[in-house]
Amino acid sequence: MIAHHFTIDLEEYFQVSAFASRVARCDWERFESRVNREVGRLLELLAQHNARATFFVLGWVAQRQAGLIRAIVRAGHEIASHGWDHARVTDQTRSQFRQSVRRTKDVLEDMTGVSVLGFRAPSFSIVPGREWALDILVEEGYRYDSSLFPVRRPGGSYGYPGGWPDPHWLARGIGPLAEIPPTTLRWCGLRLPAGGGAYFRLLPYGLVRTALRQCERRGVPGTFYIHPWELDPAQPRLRVSWLTRVRHYGGLRRTAQRLDRLLADFRFIAVRDTVAALSAVGPAVKHVPPVQSAVA
Ligand SMILES: [Zn+2]
Repeated sequence: MIAHHFTIDLEEYFQVSAFASRVARCDWERFESRVNREVGRLLELLAQHNARATFFVLGWVAQRQAGLIRAIVRAGHEIASHGWDHARVTDQTRSQFRQSVRRTKDVLEDMTGVSVLGFRAPSFSIVPGREWALDILVEEGYRYDSSLFPVRRPGGSYGYPGGWPDPHWLARGIGPLAEIPPTTLRWCGLRLPAGGGAYFRLLPYGLVRTALRQCERRGVPGTFYIHPWELDPAQPRLRVSWLTRVRHYGGLRRTAQRLDRLLADFRFIAVRDTVAALSAVGPAVKHVPPVQSAVA
């Protein structure tokens, strides 16, 4: 039985990229923190199903929630980096990106005593032309990235068309970096996003289930992602456009129930387990062998 990756982008409900034009970073302190209760619910669900997960944590949140981060580690999950303040890579200079990933890694490692191996860019914003970010990750001591979403999106705010859809090594001259892309669905010759988030809440459950079954037929782990605020129907509503409202607030009441079903239907592990398996076979191998029965 293949074990898939359960991943969480740990950020507050008001830090979502789609709200950036409404909520200035300098105002973040004025909003109520809700992440403790939301993550508590996630930890309960994961424990009920004996699943392990990777939490990509925003440095800004970690600095204010040390107890929560340590509780996640104590529960046996992996802590990885989501950058400092949710700036998209497309809005950063190389120097700003380096400072963000370095500071976040330092804070998380000081807090937990565990090495941070992984990174996921806010809004999957490592797009074609921003590959320098991957080199900086290698230089800053990261072992894997989970930002290249192998889909073509209108507007190009995220998506890495042509990216390999399964875990693999990136051929960067500077050193090896494993890439763990979010899961996509192969359908009628197209590759569609199906790895979690709004696709999980708004579309039929079968979409994510079929995408993960396709991964199993290929013999590789899939990568599911969710945000703590997606389990929080009572979060304060921000005034946003109709489309953002649907994407962000639609289906919040069904998230917990669907997660319960997903965790019953599949086995889940942290990304670091797959990266360890990748490292064991060496960077020259493009495909990763699945990690089987990694959860006792
Ligand atoms: Zn995020």
